[in-house]
Order: sequence, then C-alpha cells, then structure tokens
Amino acid sequence: MTTTVDGAPAPPPPSPLRLSKFTTAKMRILITGGAGFIGSHLVDRLMEEGTNEVIVADNFFSGSKDNLKKWIGHPNFELIRHDVTETLLVEVDQIYHLACPASPIFYKYNPVKTIKTNVMGTLNMLGLAKRVGARILLTSTSEVYGDPLEHPQTEEYWGNVNPIGVRSCYDEGKRVAETLMFDYHRQHGVEIRVARIFNTYGPRMNIDDGRVVSNFIAQALRGETMTVQSPGTQTRSFCYVSDMVDGLYRLMNGEHTGPINLGNPGEFTMLELADTVRELIEPSAQTKIVENTPDDPRKRKPDITKATKLLGWEPKVTLREGLPLMAADFRERLNYVKKPQK
Ligand code: NAD
Ligand code: UDP
Ligand code: UDP
Repeated sequence: MTTTVDGAPAPPPPSPLRLSKFTTAKMRILITGGAGFIGSHLVDRLMEEGTNEVIVADNFFSGSKDNLKKWIGHPNFELIRHDVTETLLVEVDQIYHLACPASPIFYKYNPVKTIKTNVMGTLNMLGLAKRVGARILLTSTSEVYGDPLEHPQTEEYWGNVNPIGVRSCYDEGKRVAETLMFDYHRQHGVEIRVARIFNTYGPRMNIDDGRVVSNFIAQALRGETMTVQSPGTQTRSFCYVSDMVDGLYRLMNGEHTGPINLGNPGEFTMLELADTVRELIEPSAQTKIVENTPDDPRKRKPDITKATKLLGWEPKVTLREGLPLMAADFRERLNYVKKPQK
C-alpha cells in the first residue's frame, strides 16, 4: 500500500515498475538536474539498464555537460537546456526532480533564484506529472531539519529552521517543495516519492563547489591547507554516491511515498574528516580553523530505520572506502602528479 497521509482522499493504486504509457517497451524517464553530481550518476544507472529512455533537463548552473558526455548521441538519451522555473512539455513515465543547487556557496549566490527553483520548479514538475500521469520523486534534504534539536533525525521530526536566514532559500525552499508534493498527492492523486538526502559525496563533484568533502580533498591534493570551519566539532554523516543512487531508485520503484531519509549514519566531526583525508589521501596536508557561516547545523545524522525496513536499503560504502575513490577522480581532473618521495 502507498503510505497515506491523514485526511487524504485515497490516491490511485501504486503502479510498480510498469510498461511505459508512451512507448511500448521502454520507460521514459525525466531527470531534472541530471547534469549535476548525483543526477549524472543516476543517469548512468538508468541508461545502463538498457531498457529506459532518459531525458535530462538542466540549466547548467552548477552542473556540466561533461558529466554526461558518455551518453550524448546515444539513441536512448536526450539532453535539454531548460530552466525548471519555466513550463516544460514532455511525455514521460517517471520524473526524478533533482534540479536545485546543493552547495551552500551556489545556493546562496542568488537566493531568490534558489527559492524560485524550489517552489516554481517543483510546481512545474508536479503540473507535468499531473498532466501525463507520471510518478515524481523529489530530492529533498536533511536541511529541512535545520539545526536539529533531535538526534539522530527521524522523518517524524519537524525541524528547527530559521525562516529568514541566509540558508533559508534552500531549507525553506525544500520545505515548500515537500508541501507542494504532498498537496498534489492529496488534491490531485499524483504519485509522489520524497527522499530526504543527507550529505552525499563521490566522484564528479564539482571540484570548487565549496562543500566540505570536495574542499578538503581538493585542498589536500593541491598542497593547500584544509579549511575547517569553526568550531570543527560540528558533525555530518557522509553517504557515497552509488549508495545514494541505489536508494533513490528503490524509493522511486517501491510503494512508499516517504518522506524517507537516505544517508549514511556514520557520523564524523569536521576535524575527524580532515584527519581522515590526511591519513588516506595526503599525509602532508595541514589544517587551519577558519570562520564559519551563519546557521550552520551543529550535528546531523540520519535515522534510516524506514529506508531499511521499507526499501530494503542500507549504505554499503564506508567513508574510508569512499574517500580514496573520490580522490582518484579528483587527481585525474586536477592532473595531479604526486611529488616524488625524497
Ligand atoms: P548539483 O549542484 O551537482 O546538481 C544540481 C543540478 O541542478 C545541476 O546540474 C544544476 O545545473 C541543476 N539546476 C539548478 N537549478 C536549476 C534550474 N533552475 N533549472 C534546471 N536545472 C537546474 O547538486 P547535487 O549534489 O547533485 O544535488 C542534486 C539534488 O540532491 C538537489 O536537489 C539537492 O538539493 C539534493 N541534495 C543533495 C545533497 C548532497 O549532499 N549532494 C544533499 C541533500 C539534498
Ligand atoms: N506545467 C508544466 N508542464 C506540463 C503541465 C504543467 O510545466 O506539462 C506547469 C504549468 O506551467 C503550471 C504548473 O505546471 O505553471 C502547474 O500546473 P497545474 O496544471 O497543476 O496548475 P495550473 O496550470 O492550473 O496553475
Ligand atoms: N565546512 C568546513 N570546511 C569547508 C566547507 C565546509 O569545515 O571548507 C563545514 C561546514 O561548516 C559544515 C560542514 O562542513 O559544518 C558541511 O558543510 P557543507 O557545505 O559540505 O554541507 P552542509 O551540510 O552544510 O550543507
């Protein structure tokens, strides 16, 4: 049974992985934000199945065509330069709605645009899902819990979010996006899935996107000092991207609307993360404490009981296994040549 929400009219029965309404044998799947970090790994997964047609709609604000280069020209793949704040007319069976900058540096750059992307972009994708009868999955975020007063965070926790702060364009934007998803579900019977993603890392992250794992690895490889934002005892839980893609896929093709937390419950302070990068990636790397940004959550760790029970999902790749895989990709992109040992 699809999870119901109190007071909701009965939504249409869930359709498990089904034949496309638009083609005879293939599912046609739209991925908004598919040129970004997580989106491009999801494209790989769906294209490699060989039974899907994949359409990516992206405005390339924080993503890149480079991430999709192996699929460009493939008959089952289509890339559209499109901003989700504008109407989009395509005929699809499923929509993975990822379009939104995820790094604080990018989402704070033009906060009004970030709100528009979350609110108008999600509204448009829901209007599209309603028109064509597609199932739609939103990549929401652990940021909806704000600076959490409960630890670890379960899906039942309503969060502690500053509505007027510099992160609010993202946090509150995603909260409204979730509200829209559930209102379209209750009011129009749209089949929805909501994932609350916790910090995710891996190959193909934008090298200069400012998030902590990419910053520390890039700094260590460039011989720069790793910038630990004060106090350094704040915690995050880091999920490797292949685990995340698997969770999103299971959620989309399972029977539960969510919201469902997807993340790796391993919890680390930023000082511990820097130490691990030094140990595994570059023993000569130094750290310095630098000023933090306002409203930085002090701790974050997912309770993934729901994902485990309802989706049969749990992350497989530990931080110690994932960091070297990401560093290998960064080395290649930075043309890193290790200094000869004396
Ligand atoms: P990313 O910045 O690499 O990818 C986002 C993609 O969306 C980019 O390709 C960007 O160009 C595109 N985009 C942004 N605004 C758009 C618009 N208006 N129209 C069309 N395309 C637009 O980020 P990511 O890490 O891959 O995150 C993907 C999704 O997952 C986002 O929705 C993000 O909020 C969510 N998420 C990510 C994390 C994480 O740790 N990576 C954590 C929580 C939630
Ligand atoms: N929309 C879209 N593609 C579609 C159908 C709708 O982008 O195939 C957009 C449409 O432009 C509108 C939004 O989705 O702004 C919400 O559509 P809905 O039909 O739910 O509401 P309405 O158009 O009645 O406001
Ligand atoms: N951070 C840090 N150094 C950096 C970038 C970030 O210490 O160079 C810290 C930041 O203060 C936060 C944590 O790392 O406590 C995670 O930040 P990120 O921007 O990666 O993601 P967030 O979880 O804040 O969205």
